[in-house]
Amino acid sequence: MSYIMTNGIYYIFVQGKSIKKVLDVAKATVFQNYDDAVGTISKHKGKCKSYRIYDVTDLASADFDEINRQKQQKKQQKKQSRRTYTPKERSIIYKKDNGRCYLCGKELLYSEMTLDHVIPLAKGGKDGIENLRCCCAKCNQWKADSYSGDFENKISNIYMHQMNDKIGNKFMWRFIKKYLDKQMTELYSGA
Ligand SMILES: [Zn+2]
Repeated sequence: MSYIMTNGIYYIFVQGKSIKKVLDVAKATVFQNYDDAVGTISKHKGKCKSYRIYDVTDLASADFDEINRQKQQKKQQKKQSRRTYTPKERSIIYKKDNGRCYLCGKELLYSEMTLDHVIPLAKGGKDGIENLRCCCAKCNQWKADSYSGDFENKISNIYMHQMNDKIGNKFMWRFIKKYLDKQMTELYSGA
């Protein structure tokens, strides 16, 4: 089988140790096996970011219009500026969550509350109050860059809070938290 890499517009052309993007499919590098294509992507992660590997036989049926439509949509969502919320809307959200951060459970003053989109706007979430929750500034920030900082501790706290009502056994939870901390530390120590 043979494979090429494309983002729906450009194709990857391998030239020695570097790669180029070309518009003409006829100039695209044809990989004889899938692993070679994957190898090229991992060598040039930055440049190949939005590229996908296609089986040449599938290419004719690949829906580039759909790919481009999705790209366009993503751009639009990025541009969409966040609206501001009226005091009334903010107070509805505050009451809805009993003045607590919906992630870690911390009690917040009304003035401390930040609003978090449960489904992020970038992932197609709505900007209405049904998609908004009361959130502490730390969790909000954490969610924004969820894979940096003290991710392990934060995720443990959230997990503890979310599950605490379901199993009231504190001893069990200390055990689980210890285990979870260990797992998380191992998992993210390399990150
Ligand atoms: Zn929080």
